[in-house]
Amino acid sequence: MPGINEQPPFKVLIIGGSYAGLAATLNLVDLCQGRKCRFNLDENDKAPEHKVPVQITIVDERDGYFHIIGLPLAIGSNVDASIFWKKFDDIPALQSPDISHIRGRVDSVDCKSRIARIVQSTGDDGHKIIEQKYDYMIACSGLRREWPSAPKSLTREAYLAETAESVQAIENAAAGVVVVGGGAVGIEIAAEIKMLQPQTKVTLVHSRQQLLSSEQLPDEFKAKTLELLTESNVELVMGARLQDTLLADDSTAAKFLLKLSDGQELYADHVINAVSRFTPTSSYLPKEACDPEGYIRITSGLQFSGDVPNKEYHYAAGDLASWSGIKRGGAAMHQAHFAAVNIHQRMLAELYKTEPTFNNLVAVAPMMALALGETAVGYFPTMGLSSGDEIRNMFFNDDLGYGICWRWMRLGEDTEYKS
Ligand SMILES: Cc1cc2nc3c(=O)[nH]c(=O)nc-3n(C[C@H](O)[C@H](O)[C@H](O)COP(=O)(O)OP(=O)(O)OC[C@H]3O[C@@H](n4cnc5c(N)ncnc54)[C@H](O)[C@@H]3O)c2cc1C
Repeated sequence: MPGINEQPPFKVLIIGGSYAGLAATLNLVDLCQGRKCRFNLDENDKAPEHKVPVQITIVDERDGYFHIIGLPLAIGSNVDASIFWKKFDDIPALQSPDISHIRGRVDSVDCKSRIARIVQSTGDDGHKIIEQKYDYMIACSGLRREWPSAPKSLTREAYLAETAESVQAIENAAAGVVVVGGGAVGIEIAAEIKMLQPQTKVTLVHSRQQLLSSEQLPDEFKAKTLELLTESNVELVMGARLQDTLLADDSTAAKFLLKLSDGQELYADHVINAVSRFTPTSSYLPKEACDPEGYIRITSGLQFSGDVPNKEYHYAAGDLASWSGIKRGGAAMHQAHFAAVNIHQRMLAELYKTEPTFNNLVAVAPMMALALGETAVGYFPTMGLSSGDEIRNMFFNDDLGYGICWRWMRLGEDTEYKS
């Protein structure tokens, strides 16, 4: 058997470089380099005794990490939009010889041979097909979302042009902005626009009589959200669908005339359709790995549980994993942490014949924090309903949680490297 220094590095493929993908990468690098991992706050736990050679490759269609939680603010603020997208090359924590990244889309994964086929971007819209062999893989590619729930762009430059166009349309909307869809994204967009431009009339149109109607959350949370939105002077039209968006005639200065299903008519200069549409991004996997909706079936240890070969080398974390609870960035990072710990345990067992001990997820009840401009509202089983500064500071601060996520993942710190 080769000594540990001659042992070829374990090749780990991380599909998706957002909350789950970066959390998995950095926690795994910590453990393999012989440190306690960054998300482990348990003072009784010790650093691993052994180092493990590892080479982690992150594949993402985007050229950087995008703080998608902040998009409701980015669509109305160029300054925040610019902060929220960091190219992978500009993230200090990723500049380690143990970590590399490929800009490209994973197209298919063969679990048996453990080879991923990647459509790699070669710049200027060119691409080439490459194959990447791996020992372990973590699927962290989340959900495919449409604007305004996600940018269409895959590069920072194109994204900044996309958000600048949106900012301009909002700033020029003297006759008002209408946001369609009273789910979490529509609510946050309406509230952030009103905060950025208090003089602009902002109307939220929702087809049901209750906001957040598709979320399994207590009525008191939904009612509090409605109360705080109203207090912040967002106008609400409930129980009506948008049927038609027409160009307004010359009798008004507004650009658009909106016809609603209850006969109401609204004028606006800008309309944002925030009715959420999303699909899991698991099409690169054999369908046996997924549930009927396309979410990856996992064990409580984050390992694939569907009928595929080499399950013990395949993991999923974040929005793409089939687990209880509302999809959240915090949950994605937590799952990725556990996936990293469990993979590291398997590596140690393979190299040093140690007995692995695994971290297991527990069932998660529905919970949510919503940013509402100057304020916020939250419902958590342990805290119940809360709103105001406490919730805003805990989850969002002034940048919709960008700094909180950045610091929690320690993206701004160099990843120490000890050979
Ligand atoms: C507008 C909005 C506001 C939100 N607000 C909150 C909030 O306040 N709090 C909260 O906790 N959660 C919030 N969420 C939910 C949160 O954003 C998600 O739970 C979180 O993004 C999940 O992280 P993830 O890493 O699993 O996936 P994602 O963040 O979706 O990242 C997936 C990554 O994979 C890449 N990718 C996709 N397919 C491929 C492929 N085939 N090959 C290569 N790369 C691929 C994508 O480019 C992306 O970078 C919000 C979501 C939205 C849309």
